[in-house]
Amino acid sequence: MAEPKSNELMEKIVSLCKRRGFIFQSSEIYGGINGFWDYGPLGAEIKRNVKELWWNTMTRMRDDVVGLEATIIMHPQIWRASGHVDTFSDPMCDCKFCGKRFRADQIEPQSGVAYIYSGAESQLDDVESNLNDRLLAAADEAIKASEHVDIVRLKAASEEMVAITVVTAKLRPKISARAAASDALDAVLRPFEALQKLLSTSDSNLDRQEAARLNTLIKATIRKHYYCDEPTRVLLRKGEHPDTARKKARAFYERRKYYLPKLRKEEVEPVENSVGFCPDDGGELTSPQPFNLMFKTHYGPIESDENIAYLRPETAQAIFAQFRNVFDSSRQKVPFGIAQTGKAFRNEVTPRNYTFRSREFEQMELEFFIKPDEAIEAITGSVTKVPETGHPGEPQPSWGWQAWHQYWVEERVRFYEGIGLSRETLGFHRQTAEELAHYARACVDILFKFPFSKRDEKGELLGEELEGIAARSDFDLSQHERFSGKPMGVFDEELRAAWGKLDDAKKAELSKGYYEARLKYLTKSGVEQAKAEKDAKEDADGLAKGHYIPHVIEPSAGVDRLILALICNAFTEVTDTDDKGKSETRVILKFHPRVAPVKVGIMPLLKNKPDIVKKALEVRDLLRPWMNVFYDDGGSIGRRYARQDEAGTPYCLTIDFDTLGEKPELLNTVTIRHRDDGKQERLPISELQAWLLARIR
Ligand code: ATP
Repeated sequence: MAEPKSNELMEKIVSLCKRRGFIFQSSEIYGGINGFWDYGPLGAEIKRNVKELWWNTMTRMRDDVVGLEATIIMHPQIWRASGHVDTFSDPMCDCKFCGKRFRADQIEPQSGVAYIYSGAESQLDDVESNLNDRLLAAADEAIKASEHVDIVRLKAASEEMVAITVVTAKLRPKISARAAASDALDAVLRPFEALQKLLSTSDSNLDRQEAARLNTLIKATIRKHYYCDEPTRVLLRKGEHPDTARKKARAFYERRKYYLPKLRKEEVEPVENSVGFCPDDGGELTSPQPFNLMFKTHYGPIESDENIAYLRPETAQAIFAQFRNVFDSSRQKVPFGIAQTGKAFRNEVTPRNYTFRSREFEQMELEFFIKPDEAIEAITGSVTKVPETGHPGEPQPSWGWQAWHQYWVEERVRFYEGIGLSRETLGFHRQTAEELAHYARACVDILFKFPFSKRDEKGELLGEELEGIAARSDFDLSQHERFSGKPMGVFDEELRAAWGKLDDAKKAELSKGYYEARLKYLTKSGVEQAKAEKDAKEDADGLAKGHYIPHVIEPSAGVDRLILALICNAFTEVTDTDDKGKSETRVILKFHPRVAPVKVGIMPLLKNKPDIVKKALEVRDLLRPWMNVFYDDGGSIGRRYARQDEAGTPYCLTIDFDTLGEKPELLNTVTIRHRDDGKQERLPISELQAWLLARIR
């Protein structure tokens, strides 16, 4: 079977997810809410499995990582220290035509012909046009009169303007339906009233300049409301008629309240790969503006600027903020990590690709704290260098940030392989020096090749980010130390002792390296030069006494993206042909048993045979405390298998007459059917639990 096109495939996946209860649109009965998703019965199970596997792998199976469960709303200072208040924004463009909003860095380049207009003017009917001309002429006359301080002429011109305005006002019922004319009148009246006031109070001693200013304003206002000088452009794609561009441009000026706009000066220009036009209607986009992604709220009963709070945009910051408490209470020593899973919220400009970019999602983050390289060198004599690919093996005391970073990249890949995402389904992106934040040393994104991912020139899927693993230096703890005034450093007895044994040249070299790194951080963070130098010197002196702020390696993954990857990876269509040659295509979700929402389907062969049912219920109760089981006695066995295949259940057990001892040698055995190849085997009930646990854990 030919591979379905990516969006067709996604459509099938989305529809299956809804039909089988994996994922529903949030608030669907009210039309949904963009960027928010709910997990149904099967989705909730797979989510639990994913989080539990991550938690077990990252904390319980290791001696050097402990957990944390922090609040979603935290002190707003945290988000200042982390940089989120000032810089957590995406560049955003609006379509000037349809008003839709796009993330500037995600706009698909387009080619075609740009139709450019220098502006437009309202087409008025004869009466309005005549009144308008007279109003403009009177305004011209008033400007001249005020320049010559000719009060008589000025008053006459002004009376003429009043008269015209009154006539126009009388026509209001007719023209008020035309928002443009009505607005123009209102706008003219404001400076006009000011002019009237000026004329009535300073008869002999008229402020010439002010009168001229007001008259110029009146004229400009009139002009502005009938003549638009704002240029615009619209992209015409191949095959579209030029009238389409004109129609869109006219609609653009109409929305700006120009009545029956007549376009001015049309020019055409070929456009190649431009990101300046709306992907939907070809309308001109505004230039990118930063848009902060944090959701704001208030805590306490008063909504004021003093009690603004943010829904956390990541789980990581709580780990940094609680670093000292965890360090002091957990008896861990650097290197060690703190792990947390939980909700995060980002007001994404364009949520898209199903759950991939949501506004509410879950993260699984580890902050792994390590010694600075200077401390490692002082203690072990040198810092191990490892190749940029491949697992560097078991952690060593001589590992600096680079080895730890590589270690975590590879550990995370192992995790994905362990739940069914083979290396071939993954991609990697190592951020370039230009892409890296100023404090980061390296960042590798692990990508999954989603059906909607971009493709390279050979047509191969490139993949989208599942997880980022960043070497963030000591930036985060340093920021919290500066903003909170509380020490975030640790004392390392091993370092203090080792330092004492170094020769002077080594001490000077390591001190210098540490001083320079601290100075760079402090100056980049806006600390004034003299203070930065003083503080960096103190930090370097501290290092010599065994004090430092730990550096951090951060593997940061998204639960929802991973679930989507698992579903896409598992989605398999098979076509069965029956004896009569009739074909039917059905879906098998080939989840790894570890993540599968239901581990085993339990099926009595016949539901009207009480002995079989009794035995099946016994098997269910035997397994239920250990895993998620699904008891199914409805329909033919074939249909029941198919239903479980579609839910991704890796094993189905059938309790039949042989289980009851019809063939004595098969007494108390069941048939186990494997989802992926349909193979069956017979197992004693007494061995079931161990057999299954070995495969699902
Ligand atoms: P992107 O570049 O795709 O916006 P990011 O680099 O901003 O992602 P991080 O801040 O590194 O993402 O967040 C860590 C992880 O959290 C991501 O790798 C991803 O799995 C998940 N994540 C981030 N934003 C979203 C989102 N809007 N919806 C779902 N998951 C997300």
